[in-house]
Amino acid sequence: MNCPYCQSVDTKVLETRSKQDNTIKRRRKCLSCHEKFNTVERVTFHYPNIIKKDGSVQPYLPSKLRKGLEYACQKRPIKISQIESIITKISKTVEQINKREISSQIIGQLVLKELKELDQAAFVRFASVYRSFDDIQEFVAAIKTDNLEISYDQ
Ligand SMILES: [Zn+2]
Repeated sequence: MNCPYCQSVDTKVLETRSKQDNTIKRRRKCLSCHEKFNTVERVTFHYPNIIKKDGSVQPYLPSKLRKGLEYACQKRPIKISQIESIITKISKTVEQINKREISSQIIGQLVLKELKELDQAAFVRFASVYRSFDDIQEFVAAIKTDNLEISYDQ
């Protein structure tokens, strides 16, 4: 942490305080110019943007993922808690990829990997639409139509 006054890198921490808002505040002293200043540390958690097939970019939203999963798991013996844990796992993976943007196909593949282990019918349902629909909302809209319901049973 450079000194804001002289840009020196030689600073000393005088005091460290954990705050209730999950931040850590430090009082520092510059060893070159002897000025004192404060720094604040906080956890950063950023989801990447999702690049769709048509090139458009949207923020990654766990709520969108939930909708897609709920429809894929409709009428299947799957608990809400199982869906929640898939969302948590995928969100964590997406965050840990640590990129500004990732392809929507990666999300689709992550979902399929989880559903394959969980429920074969939900997996097939999601897989049958994931290749032709790039967006969870399109998927949700399509899955509501009769056409798509019929195609599951074929
Ligand atoms: Zn300084």
